[in-house]
Amino acid sequence: MLTKQRSTAKELAAKWVAQQQENGRTAGELHQTMFVYGDDVMQVDMNENKELHITDRTPQKVVVFRKPEPEPGHICRCCSMEYDHEKDALHCCAYID
Ligand SMILES: [Zn+2]
Repeated sequence: MLTKQRSTAKELAAKWVAQQQENGRTAGELHQTMFVYGDDVMQVDMNENKELHITDRTPQKVVVFRKPEPEPGHICRCCSMEYDHEKDALHCCAYID
């Protein structure tokens, strides 16, 4: 399970690197880019042949603090009208069919 997640993180990083290079970014520019995927940390490193390698840099423990998402308003599922109270949103189109 953990192994599978690792490979996915590496695949994502490899895809991103390939995309960046298609867009004209050089190996030097991408060198030392870090990726965080869940608890996995990857880094792109350039060797002396200017080839990029993705290395697993996952430390023993990762703690990510995320800013809370702004709370969405209450939206009527039928017409997408926004309300301050959930009750009003539920009642909005409740009687129309
Ligand atoms: Zn509505």
